[in-house]
Order: sequence, then structure tokens, then C-alpha cells
Amino acid sequence: MKYFSADYIIPVTSEPIANGVIQLNDEGRLVRIGKQEDFPTVDIQKVKGIILPGFVNAHCHLELSHMQGICDTGTGLVSFITKVVKLRDFEQELILEGIRQRDREMYEAGIQAVGDICNKTDTASCKDESPIHYYSFIELFDLLQPGMTRDTISNYSRVFESQSDKGLNQKSFVPHAPYSVTPELFAFINEANNAGSVTSIHNQETPDEHELFINGTGRFKTFYEGLGMNLDAFKATGKPSIDYALEHMVPQGNTLFVHNTMSEKEDIQNVLRWNTNSYWVSCPNANLYIENRLPDYRQFMDCNAKMCLGTDSIMSNWQLSIWEEIKTIKKYQSYVPLEALIEWATINGAEALKYDNVLGSLEVGKSPGLVHIELDWKGEETQLEGSVPRRLA
Ligand SMILES: [Zn+2]
Repeated sequence: MKYFSADYIIPVTSEPIANGVIQLNDEGRLVRIGKQEDFPTVDIQKVKGIILPGFVNAHCHLELSHMQGICDTGTGLVSFITKVVKLRDFEQELILEGIRQRDREMYEAGIQAVGDICNKTDTASCKDESPIHYYSFIELFDLLQPGMTRDTISNYSRVFESQSDKGLNQKSFVPHAPYSVTPELFAFINEANNAGSVTSIHNQETPDEHELFINGTGRFKTFYEGLGMNLDAFKATGKPSIDYALEHMVPQGNTLFVHNTMSEKEDIQNVLRWNTNSYWVSCPNANLYIENRLPDYRQFMDCNAKMCLGTDSIMSNWQLSIWEEIKTIKKYQSYVPLEALIEWATINGAEALKYDNVLGSLEVGKSPGLVHIELDWKGEETQLEGSVPRRLA
């Protein structure tokens, strides 16, 4: 048995406990949580600051771990994707080393579970061994080309077979984004997944996506032409891109909408009517990196939307740390309560990925992992600057 104490324990699903104590068994399962006086005789490891449950990173691309610094900041999503599409030819050993390094970095920064987008199988062996639980989202796209749908399905069926489902790891098929998936490919994904599968889609990340769906014009059209493709099979709907996604996805299981920098209240309300088990994943540092624009969090809070946090890949971030995402939101949209942000970073992500029976809060019976952050806890008045998360257990 191990015992940990801090100035404040933040269980997330109940009130912070001043000088609280947590008892973990040798497998890391939480056996007991309470006040100092409930544990009079035991040997307790006491730290300054706060102890939180492990974080959930609801959106990452671990397979891009070797690509830090390759894209300039602030160039916009279409330039970013163009670069990704053209980048190849890295040594396999470099790719695998990057993946191992970033998996370790996330674990040390207190991340306990990851919703990970996969276009390849490179990450599978790392996930088999990692202490992090991975929900692998095998992500399909046929670039709106009906002629590519069949090959996409057969290629990605192989990726699905090879991805890790060891231990608590899970996997499902997911669509990439409205601007890259035909109705036929959506239909395959709906059919291939189990009823309880979690799905995810990149959503409303740039004005160019909006322009494509409203008018059939803009930089995405140019992007496709640059690849030698036409958009003859695509008809602009005159409605936001998310409407196209809702029309072709099935409202069962949990659905994660990722980025949402362009989402408006009406979009959020439409989604809540479509599937109450919808989650909105924000990756603020990646949004600043790529488009230099953040979502308007007030709209989501006004709609009682369930929010989660993600890092996206190291290709569009400065580090893979959920605590850094919280600090960024606090810096630019400080009205979001710290308590809410901690929920987004822990229990909401755990619920979204269906790991909430074991992760996301400090409750007896869970194995959430423990994160220590040295800071002076004053509730909403807490200063986050300079604070660094450290894995305790
Ligand atoms: Zn992404």
C-alpha cells in the first residue's frame, strides 16, 4: 500500500480536501480517500500543492511524433494539411523513436488515457507496452473522390486489424472531416463499428471549410485541384459543414467533435438534439499554432455542452501536456472556471472515451493515476503560471 497527501486533494467528482490523504494498493487502485486524521498511524508521502487524477488527452496523433517544428505557426489549416500530405520518407526507426518519446512525455505529464487518431500502424507496438490507455481512432478519408472509397476501405481495414487492443486499449473506425469523406465512406464506418463504439471527427476548424460547404469555393477547392482532383461528385450544401456530418453519422455511442473553432450556438444545439452523448474536444494550443484562433468557450458553456481537452499532435503543438492546454485557456479566456477546466481535462475525457469506470476522478475502486502540481491552491484565484505537472503514481 502507498499513501499520498498534499495541501489539497482534488477528487474532481467531489469537493477538494485540505490536507487529504489517498491510499493506493500495489496495482494503483484507489482503496481509500479522506482527511489526515483518518490515517493516524501510516507512513504518508506528503507533497506541496495539489494532487489530481490522471488527465485524459481526448485528441492526439501519436504517429506524427517525429514531426515537431516542421510546419510554421499561423499559416492556416489548408497549408498545414498540404504539408502533411507531401511529407513522407522518414526512417522507420526515427518514427518509432518519436512515438516512444512522446508516449513517455505524455505519461510523465500525467496523461492516463489518449484518444488517438491513426492513419497508420506505427504506434501499435508502443501502445501494447504503454501504461497509457489508448482509444485508437482508425481515421478514414477518400478526399471526396468516389473512385477512392473502395481502396480506402481495404487499406484502413488492414490498419484497424493491426492497431492495439491489448489491455484496456480500444479501437474504432472514424471519419476524418466533412471536407474529406464521401457519403459512401460514412456508410461503411457506420456499418463497421459496434453500436457502443466511440467515434470522432475533425470539426469546423477553419473558415475555408465553411466556404466550401456554403459556396463550393475557397482554398479547399484549390487544395484538391493542386492534388489533381476535381470535386465533381461534391455539391455545396449551403449549410455549415457539421450539418453534412450529422446527416451521415449515426447518433449512437459517444461522438467527439474536435476543434470547433468556427462552431456557433446553433451548431452546438443541433448536435445536442442529434445525440446527447456528444463531446466537444478543444485543442487550444494546436488552434493557436495552426489558425491562431480559439473557440468561443462561452457558447459551449451556455449550451451545457460536454467539453474535453486534447493536445493534437506535436506537429501543431509545443508539447503534449493537458495541463498546458488548461493554462492556455486560462490565459486567453479566463472566464472559464478552473474547476470546469479540470473536469474537461479528467472526468469528461474519461466519459467521452468510456474509461470513466476506471479513470477520471479520485474515487474508491478506480485506478486513475495521480498527478502532482506544485502551486498555491486558492480555488478560482489560483495562479497557474510556471506550474508543471509531475506524475506521482
Ligand atoms: Zn487532429
